[in-house]
Amino acid sequence: MKTIAQIAAELQGYDPQALNADQVSAFLERLVQPMTTTEEVGIFEGLGRVLARDVVSPLSVPPHDNSAMDGYALAGAQLVAGQPLTLRVVGTALAGKAWTGTVGAGECLKIMTGAIMPADLDTVVPQEFTTTAADGHITIAADVLRLGDNRRFKGEDLMEGGVALSKGELLTPAALGLVASLGLKTVTVYRRLRVAYFSTGDEILSLGEPPREGAVYDSNRYTVFGLLTRLGVEMIDLGVVRDEPALLEAAFRDAAARADAIITSGGVSVGEADHTRTMMKQLGDVAFWRIAMRPGRPMAVGRITASGFQAKEVSGAYAESASSYQKDTKPETGGAILFGLPGNPVAVMVTFLAFVRPALLRMMGSTRPAPPLLRAVSTEAIRKKPGRTEYQRGSVTTAPDGTLQVCTTGNQGSGVLSSMVQANGLIVLHHGQGNVAPGDAVDVMVFDGVI
Ligand code: AMP
Ligand code: MG
Repeated sequence: MKTIAQIAAELQGYDPQALNADQVSAFLERLVQPMTTTEEVGIFEGLGRVLARDVVSPLSVPPHDNSAMDGYALAGAQLVAGQPLTLRVVGTALAGKAWTGTVGAGECLKIMTGAIMPADLDTVVPQEFTTTAADGHITIAADVLRLGDNRRFKGEDLMEGGVALSKGELLTPAALGLVASLGLKTVTVYRRLRVAYFSTGDEILSLGEPPREGAVYDSNRYTVFGLLTRLGVEMIDLGVVRDEPALLEAAFRDAAARADAIITSGGVSVGEADHTRTMMKQLGDVAFWRIAMRPGRPMAVGRITASGFQAKEVSGAYAESASSYQKDTKPETGGAILFGLPGNPVAVMVTFLAFVRPALLRMMGSTRPAPPLLRAVSTEAIRKKPGRTEYQRGSVTTAPDGTLQVCTTGNQGSGVLSSMVQANGLIVLHHGQGNVAPGDAVDVMVFDGVI
């Protein structure tokens, strides 16, 4: 477990007041480590979890050579170019039953898709390439078939003893089906990552509170809830924590005892009058950054090491604000990784997608590479200053010629959530990039499959 100072020393040109997006990613990759605790779960529960052990195939799939078509199985050596072939049908092989007879020269076997191929046969002619000839014979038209056609080989999907799925793979619907095809009812996965989150700020209202001048309803906890739900982590919602040292301390200590990671929003920009930064400093090893990005410049990252919240130590206010309060602590000690996000609602989502999500996936044990950014043609001019990464909310569509095109959605202010609602992706304008002219290609991160 490296300290903030150790990681900072490893990174070339590290300046907490002027980090670029790549440096943030490199820093986080060093800060967060894959979890080690594993458990065996039933296959249904495995969906969305990360494999903690290779799945070695206990059998071959398919288990036998078999037919890929409904038709007739034959020894393909009898096929002659330019000539039809007439064969006598000696029986029928159904899927799930082995044919026990023999098929000689001039003979064939009616066979169903998935039925075992008898040892001497190697080719299947689909039904539609044949005509029925007199008394139990069929004729295969000339030049419709080659030796070996429509035969599936034993183990062509998975071979016994081979690695069917590797440790670190995310169990997708396809992976789940693959596990089942091996006859396995359980999978060994990493423990679910636990993430605690809360919003800070005295101007933030919880739902149910009456509106008040200068106050806004908490939206960050809901976007964070949604983003975390999509990742399949266990969540601990600690509510809106008021700007009082005792309440903030209790929330951080509680979160560090119970969760692997803590996500807060608000209170990390310079010049904040509140106690959030002070408390982060006091209870952990935390760096405060200014990132060359828009939206989302301020961010606090590190480890909250002090844990051990005692419910009786603070008044009822904190416990009441924690909507899912439970006393269970996580099995491992050593604190929790802190992601102190800015307060602006779009900045929260963008910093989550750009940095927190990849870091959480790494903590979950996933080794799956991030999905590639796509290229789309901008239909409009976009102003962009070189020297910072900008994430514009975009609407990606298919142009009439079939290529991808993108335009920005709505007001790009970092607090304007409706721009995020209308968007189906982020236009990623990289650090060195300048203005975009209509017709220029840009990188886009499409939301589908992510959020
Ligand atoms: P801060 O980073 O604390 O300076 O907050 C920046 C802006 O985001 C301010 O306008 C806050 O009112 C707003 N904000 C902070 N937290 C939240 C929240 N949980 N929900 C909605 N808006 C917020
Ligand atoms: Mg604030």
